[in-house]
Amino acid sequence: MVLPHLSIAVSIPNMPGGTSWLADIRVRTTRNFLGHEILFLALLAVLLCSGCAKPPVAKLMETTAYCGCSSCCSWERGSWAMLKLDFWNRYVSSGPNAGRSYSGLTASGTVPYEPEEGLFSMDSIYRPWMIPVRLILFPWYLLPHDGTIAADTKYYPFGTRMYVPGYGQGVVEDRGGAIKGPNRIDLYFDSHSDALTWGRKKVRVTIEHPR
Ligand SMILES: [Zn+2]
Repeated sequence: MVLPHLSIAVSIPNMPGGTSWLADIRVRTTRNFLGHEILFLALLAVLLCSGCAKPPVAKLMETTAYCGCSSCCSWERGSWAMLKLDFWNRYVSSGPNAGRSYSGLTASGTVPYEPEEGLFSMDSIYRPWMIPVRLILFPWYLLPHDGTIAADTKYYPFGTRMYVPGYGQGVVEDRGGAIKGPNRIDLYFDSHSDALTWGRKKVRVTIEHPR
């Protein structure tokens, strides 16, 4: 992916004048690319892929779903310390952080997302009605975005990427009180009804361990 650009950059200093310089670059690029550089590319690929990245692991996991609503994330409006008068504030209602204000962020401090496959994906073929939604209503959905997954960070530290069939590509960014052990994850959805529709499923999750 990178090398053709590299070859162009090399070709530009000794390019001849006139109008055929672009064709010349193209010829040089192809010639260089098909020459011993392909060997270099292969070696580079081996070096990049073998040393640091572990192969992904497939694992049968019990998955549940959640959203940012008060029942999924156990928060309530207004604290009893303020006699519930500050109803515009959100407080954590249970767990070790009960009484503290609820930010709506994940345990790693990020904004939770549902996976978005982006404009140039199979999703645009399967769900073509999403194309105008991406182009006009939510232009940030043009780019693919990982979903938020809650997991036990003893087994899957923040940043672990997982592919969950039926949900999509996600990344561990959150924790949950009931999400304990290596076989248990919680998937973030934007709406509570989508989370209820998912319910509880056992699926084969592909886990990429972080480098
Ligand atoms: Zn919910």
